[in-house]
Amino acid sequence: MEINGVEIPKGSNRFIEMDVARLPSGTLIQMPIHVFRAKEEGPCILLSGGLHGDEVNGIEAVRRVVESKMLKKLLKGTVIALPIINVYGFIHFSRDVPDGKDVNRSFPGNPEGSLASIVAWQITHHLLPHIDYGIDFHTGGASRTNFPQIRFAKEDELGQKVAERFNAPFTLNSGLISGSLRAAAKDLGKSVIVFEGGESLRLDEKSIMASIRGIENVLASEGMIDKKIRFKKSIYMIDSSWVRADASGMFVFKKTAGQKVKQNEIIGYVHSPYNTYRVKVASPIDGYIIGHNNFPLVHKGDALFHIGMVE
Ligand SMILES: [Zn+2]
Repeated sequence: MEINGVEIPKGSNRFIEMDVARLPSGTLIQMPIHVFRAKEEGPCILLSGGLHGDEVNGIEAVRRVVESKMLKKLLKGTVIALPIINVYGFIHFSRDVPDGKDVNRSFPGNPEGSLASIVAWQITHHLLPHIDYGIDFHTGGASRTNFPQIRFAKEDELGQKVAERFNAPFTLNSGLISGSLRAAAKDLGKSVIVFEGGESLRLDEKSIMASIRGIENVLASEGMIDKKIRFKKSIYMIDSSWVRADASGMFVFKKTAGQKVKQNEIIGYVHSPYNTYRVKVASPIDGYIIGHNNFPLVHKGDALFHIGMVE
């Protein structure tokens, strides 16, 4: 196996720094990658975080897995661990690269294109050809929090199998978005599934631990690490939808991510700060709150609750 000109023989681990491009100051931005290879043949799995640079829970989960003993002596196969895909977003505390483009809408990428497209191309060109599948770690964006959940596309059989092995508290069927890492992987005959947990720029221990447990479960079910699989029945969502604010004001939630809700149940309120009105927020369906807005001030039409529908 060779990545970015570095040879990684079986039975060895390597730390590779892939050049991306320079900052206006001239400082070179690199994308550091850890590669762990066992002597014995086995699957090649990508673990990535920070595709959105401010989604720090995934970065922390991948960092802790790299720090732990689990990958250092794999029994078989290969793990490519990439804590931060979008280093530009990370240093700017931002989801996107500095020109405002989303790397996760810029796949498969282009080495001569915009910065987001250059970052995407590094992954498509250097890493995707090696992998069998990947797990990409995200959080809710823009003050929205997500209950720990794994997402796969229903047309992706391998992705579904990996999602089941991962065994997150919630499992969601979620369609492929054009220009995303998942869609680029699918075009190459690979599979990438997405974990979502917590909120951008806020560490959430529950989500980080669910990520690590999921990685352990996947690696243990492949026989790549010697670890007992911890299986707890995941709640499977067949569909999901957002409840939006009927009025502008102060948003107070009464139910939170992870909780079960009934159709028409009051799950929050939007208050006028002067008590001139109060609008109830009700769940349109029976289901579970898979995510919600954590920002206390909302405009009419803002997304408040993401509700998952079970079978
Ligand atoms: Zn994200």
